[in-house]
Amino acid sequence: MTIQSIDPKTGDKLSAEIQDSTFDEISQIIEQSQSAFEIWSEVSTDDRAKVLEAIASALDENVNELAQLADQETALGLPRLVGEVARTTFQLRLFASELKKKELLKEDLDEKIEGAPPQGRPQLQRSWVALGPVAVFGASNFPFAFGELGGDTASALAAGCTVVVKEHPAHPQLAQKVIALARNAIKNSGFNENILQSVRGFQSGSELVKHPLIKACGFTGSQTAGRALFDLSVARDVPIPFYGELGSINPVFVTENAAKERGAEIAAGFVASFTLGAGQFCTKPSLILVPESANFEAEALKAIDPESFSTLLTPDIQKKFLKDVALVTSKNGVKTLLEPKAKADGFGVSIGLMSVALKDFLENLHEISHECFGPVALVVTYRQEAELISVAAQLEGALVTTFHAEIEKDQDLLKKLTKIAKHRSGRLVMNGWPTGVAVTRAQHHGGPYPASTNVLFTSVGSYSMMRFVRPVTYQDYPSNLI
Ligand code: NAP
Repeated sequence: MTIQSIDPKTGDKLSAEIQDSTFDEISQIIEQSQSAFEIWSEVSTDDRAKVLEAIASALDENVNELAQLADQETALGLPRLVGEVARTTFQLRLFASELKKKELLKEDLDEKIEGAPPQGRPQLQRSWVALGPVAVFGASNFPFAFGELGGDTASALAAGCTVVVKEHPAHPQLAQKVIALARNAIKNSGFNENILQSVRGFQSGSELVKHPLIKACGFTGSQTAGRALFDLSVARDVPIPFYGELGSINPVFVTENAAKERGAEIAAGFVASFTLGAGQFCTKPSLILVPESANFEAEALKAIDPESFSTLLTPDIQKKFLKDVALVTSKNGVKTLLEPKAKADGFGVSIGLMSVALKDFLENLHEISHECFGPVALVVTYRQEAELISVAAQLEGALVTTFHAEIEKDQDLLKKLTKIAKHRSGRLVMNGWPTGVAVTRAQHHGGPYPASTNVLFTSVGSYSMMRFVRPVTYQDYPSNLI
């Protein structure tokens, strides 16, 4: 099998056919990853930091060329892509600075206490060991920040793991370019470049997950693909952790007070957020709950140019987007306020907007509240604010839940909604928008399934590194052997 680089604006081919990795090549790459792991996992945190900084510098030095190549293959636009490279290098440097601070991977030491129960307490030292070679699946919509050199790769390398990336077929030339740049930077830093390798082709993904030497997976992508690969990872003879960060619905709750005070402003902000990056954000707010009396739909329509087209990443994403919107609008009570249209050439679509009354929404909750990846959203209208509490309790796990409220006036309602939403979301946003995920220590990007397949960990920010290490306790052990 082969893949080809395609221009999403025109559908034209940008490269010759690129061969998928063969089974033998994949096996050899994984074995090399294991050999490289035996040394990389013992390298000091300061040296690991230097390698991450060298990769970041290599990306910075080539930012213009990389952004142009990414734009040809994704049509996400140069300003956004240049910004995404900066975010990616910031991320690599954040892990480097965490390694130098030595706080996250610090050891716990309990001194021996003679005679303490039970039977005297031995000296215990709890330390961290890297898991092993990690398989990383990047997403198409963030070719840098969640791509081949994105957070999963950076955090796994920081943790002392080696990485085998499944290249994304939506940007095959970029994937090879960034991997080559990073490998060169690793080699020039004096380390084995096989700590980072890549494979390509649909089948290579499942081969990676099934291979006994692969010890964990970092995945960013759709619920369907994430679930299929998660199932494979737990069906192995030796199951492994599978950190899947998937798409989610990301509901927005607007109180009556907020709608009255600033309905038009909220409508404009909502449109800007759900159309950002052609609506191809995992944090896109896909549905907004507003009072029926607020006339929110008309305000949202005012903020939309129905003739403007944005380009989706691949023909499959375009087809799936139109199919998913048709599925939602086929449900009882769902009105099409603006039907998204496909552009004649390339993978462009226009913006869509749908609405439904709360009672009809609840009847088909599962089918209606599912991610339509692209520039479309659903306005759900409620009659009584108290209904929001029962809706909040019925929604599935989300990466982000957002509230638009008047903080003082809505105190009681906000307390009740927060109590429910914190059990269903990785992040709660007040009077802002969910798109845009800051890369910091306090960030949590994840959440209950189906937002992620592992509710305990974040895929963004310093703590994402902790996905790829495990604790081991040494009892009465000589320190020179630890
Ligand atoms: P995708 O279609 O799920 O693809 C992701 C990767 O999985 C690709 O390499 C794909 O390879 C592979 N894959 C797909 N189906 C597979 C299967 N059945 N078995 C093995 N491998 C399979 O996702 P995408 O289009 O790149 O990205 C868009 C999705 O990612 C959206 O749903 C978005 O919300 C989500 N996303 C989530 C986050 C987050 O942090 N939570 C961030 C960004 C995006 P092939 O293409 O070769 O099939």
